[in-house]
Amino acid sequence: MKASLHRPSKAVVDLSAIAFNIQQVAAHLPDSAEKWAVVKADAYGHGAVAVSRHIEPLVDGFCVSNIDEALELRTAGLTKKILILGISETDAVSLALGNEISLTVASLEWLDLLLARQADLTGLSFHIKIDSGMGRIGFRSGQEAEEAIRRLQAAGALVEGIFTHFATADEADDSKFDRQLARFEAILQQLETVPPLVHASNSATVLWHSQTVMNAVRLGDIIYGLNPSGTVLELPYDIKPALSLHSQLAHVKELEAGADVGYGATYTSASRQFIGTIPLGYADGWTRDMQGFDVLIDGQRCPIVGRVSMDQLTVRLPRSYPLGTPVVLIGQSGAEMITATDVAVQRGTINYEVVCLLSDRVPRVYRE
Ligand SMILES: *Cc1c(COP(=O)(O)O)cnc(C)c1O
Repeated sequence: MKASLHRPSKAVVDLSAIAFNIQQVAAHLPDSAEKWAVVKADAYGHGAVAVSRHIEPLVDGFCVSNIDEALELRTAGLTKKILILGISETDAVSLALGNEISLTVASLEWLDLLLARQADLTGLSFHIKIDSGMGRIGFRSGQEAEEAIRRLQAAGALVEGIFTHFATADEADDSKFDRQLARFEAILQQLETVPPLVHASNSATVLWHSQTVMNAVRLGDIIYGLNPSGTVLELPYDIKPALSLHSQLAHVKELEAGADVGYGATYTSASRQFIGTIPLGYADGWTRDMQGFDVLIDGQRCPIVGRVSMDQLTVRLPRSYPLGTPVVLIGQSGAEMITATDVAVQRGTINYEVVCLLSDRVPRVYRE
């Protein structure tokens, strides 16, 4: 989808906030720990190329979810290491080789498929994924991981790293986290030689289990200025939200009492009132469950009334405002603030989903 540039709706991404957040995290990590920025899913909706270019001097590498995301960065001229966190199709391997992209290996079955296709893996770099309790991808035993390392090395590949991923690092109860950590450490101990990079920390682990930093970390949500726990745990230091979402009033009218608004006529004005229309809707990622939530206009909260449509939504205004009046959907207006986490709470989801779901129709505008 093309971005709709001739519309006032846009996401403003403050690149210096992302740099600030990385520096904040780095100040609380050992200098020796490699910092990898997780820029999958278009940098959580912030724009992978612009974000990665801006932060490349501050990080040791980038993590993405698949080969296309990795190639997008290479095509844009990024030269630092790139690791694909997910499982790649074996026919992506020649692309990985030609573009110096590291792959994750998570099962012997996949490795068999790969070796059947290409017996010589010279020049390819791999990270071994351990499933310490997430139950998604990865080796569940040290013997299998050892076997994978042996076969990769025999085929000429470089085994650069080994990693695991925590399921509950953002929760108040540490018991499952501790069990995963113990399992990962036990597997590391079973290996004849541990690969050079050992990493287990996502944002939540870096924030609330800082003793678990091995020698590299994978930083996602936190670098965008979002609290990975939502509202559960407090951040130990300051971070700045990087993304704000803006639009303008495109239409304003005064309704008489008893007038309906929107599909399904789910809202009826109780009195004479001003209704503003904003050119943003569920096709932009502003989902229908945002009905009843607020937008900010002139430092005031204005409720979204009536159904959110594909391309438009309607709000109740305290008075008439001129066309073009700024509307803030995520961000600050006067003393009022709406965060991605506030939006997530309204939707019963997590801030990750709120920013990732902003569609390509919404232009990303960059500030430094
Ligand atoms: C997405 C992802 C991360 C980053 O997680 P955050 O919670 O955003 O820091 C780290 N590691 C893996 C394996 C991931 O899939």
